[in-house]
Amino acid sequence: MSAKAPITQDVVTIPRKLAEGKINLVGLTRDRLREVLIEHGTPERQAKMRVNQIWQWIYQWGVRDFAEMTNLAKSYRAQLAENFVIEIPEVVTRKVSEDGTRKYLVRIAGGHEVEVVYIPEEDRGTLCISSQVGCTLTCSFCHTGTQKLVRNLTTAEIVGQIMMARDDLNEWPVPGEPKNETRLLSNIVLMGMGEPLYNFENVRDAMKIAMDPEGISLSRRRITLSTSGVVPEIARTAEEIGCLLAISFHATTNETRDVLVPINKRWNIEELLQALANYPKASNSERITFEYVMLDGVNDSDEDAHRLIELIRSHDIPAKINLIPFNEWPGAPYKRSSNNRIRAFANIIYQAGYASPIRTPRGEDIMAACGQLKSATERERKSRRQIESEAGL
Ligand code: SAH
Ligand code: SF4
Repeated sequence: MSAKAPITQDVVTIPRKLAEGKINLVGLTRDRLREVLIEHGTPERQAKMRVNQIWQWIYQWGVRDFAEMTNLAKSYRAQLAENFVIEIPEVVTRKVSEDGTRKYLVRIAGGHEVEVVYIPEEDRGTLCISSQVGCTLTCSFCHTGTQKLVRNLTTAEIVGQIMMARDDLNEWPVPGEPKNETRLLSNIVLMGMGEPLYNFENVRDAMKIAMDPEGISLSRRRITLSTSGVVPEIARTAEEIGCLLAISFHATTNETRDVLVPINKRWNIEELLQALANYPKASNSERITFEYVMLDGVNDSDEDAHRLIELIRSHDIPAKINLIPFNEWPGAPYKRSSNNRIRAFANIIYQAGYASPIRTPRGEDIMAACGQLKSATERERKSRRQIESEAGL
């Protein structure tokens, strides 16, 4: 591990009193929502029904103003508005790529910023969301890794990224009108800034809200969490979230993986593969994605491809291998493998019977591709020292 110790303790979301003394209802679990409503005057016998009604307004219809909650009595709406707000992160800038990819820079409490990327495809649309500001880990090919961890995002800030994107895509259904079955925002990947398994509770609660059938209602099979390999939290991901899993694998020997993904020094390839072999949800219909960044002359030889297959096969892991052409960023110490090399590598894997799609870089012109997040904005905006002093580090 690097000198920076990883955070193993999650910050549990406690309803935060905002500046005006009001509590944000976004991001509270149903149980917590019930408690705060009762604490602020909702009679206990009505609480269950009120939770359902308010939940639907917030997460099904995208309403932010209590006055619009027309199935609640006017006096009750006023009482809610006195105590609560429905607040999501604020969009600072929005860039649209030539290929339709949208990159949002959103501001969260404390003046910090994270990036969110929307990737439209023919039959679906994927939102890539962030779980931390910066990252404790220091993967040598990742730009986010050069930024210190500032803080974990709260549940509200994580689910708020989805709500923000639905606002921008104008995708909240309208009461009384038929539901749009083909969704613009149909999939979520936790592949933005940060290591989601070092912010487990908040990520879990946010995904539970996103999956709740009375609200945003995304299927667990349309959510993919990517981790660099926080072994003790992997089984919990299946048990407590139930989403699909992607692993930032990137190397086939401990020697190379120690350098590329330094968490490997804490939990090595063998320990990681054991955890994946035991992943409760893995099956042929729910394969684990192995992410593999293609770095010229570092991890892209034919021998690497053969070793990768051998590692996966010997542990009997239902897997597909997603090859990611390296996205360069200013000062990056690596080069992207040539297209021919990537194709040859993919072919060896494919011949061995594993799917080996090559990820098309999206939104490169706006620095929105994998691993590029935060680069441009960090230069345009704050120095690291400024961020640290604001966070009281
Ligand atoms: N922290 C988590 C999720 C965020 S990174 C993780 O590491 O899995 C999402 C994916 O982008 C990871 O597989 C990561 O290894 C990859 N990535 C990071 N930097 C990259 C770069 N410069 N080019 C291509 N992929 C990169
Ligand atoms: Fe953090 Fe993931 Fe980047 Fe590694 S690849 S530094 S874990 S965000």
